[in-house]
Amino acid sequence: MSKNRIAVFPGSFDPLTNGHVDIVKRSLEVFEKLIVAVVENPSKQAMFTVEERKNLIQEEFSGLGDRVEAGSFKGLLVDYLKELNVYIVIRGLRAISDFDYETQMALVNRNLNPRVETFFLMAKEENSYISSSLVKQIAPLGGDVSKFVPKVVQKALKAR
Ligand code: ADP
Repeated sequence: MSKNRIAVFPGSFDPLTNGHVDIVKRSLEVFEKLIVAVVENPSKQAMFTVEERKNLIQEEFSGLGDRVEAGSFKGLLVDYLKELNVYIVIRGLRAISDFDYETQMALVNRNLNPRVETFFLMAKEENSYISSSLVKQIAPLGGDVSKFVPKVVQKALKAR
């Protein structure tokens, strides 16, 4: 398999939502393999540990075999990409609100390493209002998040 058939989908995934799942599945229409990489960001208040988030990702996509791999990294994305020797990054775009931040990140990453190419997939309309932070607000209050997250995540949230 040539390297350009592998892409990295980085994010917090705290927790994985139906929006993320859709981006993963649609990326696999284009790329042979996707590494879903959890960012270890100590400054963000997390609900699930990095290990728990990785396990949920692995569990959700277990049916796809080695086409989806869960990874994690600390520090700069460009350093992680270099380690993997993979320079294609996937990001999802919801409404206009994601655009500024995503543009900045894509340009910064390319500036840090010109080999980095970021591909954006537009969120599905029905997912465009879903975010991990929404789930983190609603689930602890007993709200129904079954339309926002996959079953494995629902189970993990219930266990909390
Ligand atoms: P980050 O903290 O890096 O933004 P997230 O887990 O919030 O991490 O998001 C990871 C990626 O998934 C980002 O590119 C984000 O735009 C995308 N994403 C998040 N929610 C959705 C959604 N509902 N539909 C499509 N893409 C999404």
